[in-house]
Amino acid sequence: MTPAPIAELERCLARLPGFGRRSASRAALALVREPARLLQPLANALRAAGDGVRCCSRCGAFTESGRDPCGTCTDETRDGSVVCVVEEPADIVAIEASGAFRGRYHALGGKLSPAHRMGPERLRLEALRERVGQEGFSEVLLALSTDMDGDATAGYIAEMLSGTGVKVTRLAFGLPADSGVAYSDPLTLRRAIGGRLPCA
Ligand SMILES: [Zn+2]
Repeated sequence: MTPAPIAELERCLARLPGFGRRSASRAALALVREPARLLQPLANALRAAGDGVRCCSRCGAFTESGRDPCGTCTDETRDGSVVCVVEEPADIVAIEASGAFRGRYHALGGKLSPAHRMGPERLRLEALRERVGQEGFSEVLLALSTDMDGDATAGYIAEMLSGTGVKVTRLAFGLPADSGVAYSDPLTLRRAIGGRLPCA
């Protein structure tokens, strides 16, 4: 019989992405086995993250409490003419890690999805429209999911911004890195062919 506090810890861990029931159980047992080395530092880090992480009121990225707007929004060395629109703050982390983009960001907080009752009023779309008016972007780069909901969201934004004069672009669709044509799914291939590039 697993003691109740350990069972509760397992349940909490099992809700995390990347954890199954078995890995959650292994992690929980390791934590209680080594409280000083594993459990206490994790408890402290959880509390600090809970108290100290906010979303930037301008772009929606993760930022520290007391630092709003965030460092990316206030960095004068970044390109203020282009804003990259993403669904979640985690997408900003991934694009920053790529090092390929040096403009501003705007996280919507999701994507339009009739199935999940996600309508335009639940996303930060109005805030995007206001920023386009106020910050003088010349380009809005949409970095959204490549599924039906992502396409619908992209279409909505293009429509919303039509007439503002701003250029709306999307990420190019290609094959995954280190992957061959034979291993690509039909949708990826259709998009890669549709978005083909000149061969320099
Ligand atoms: Zn920001």
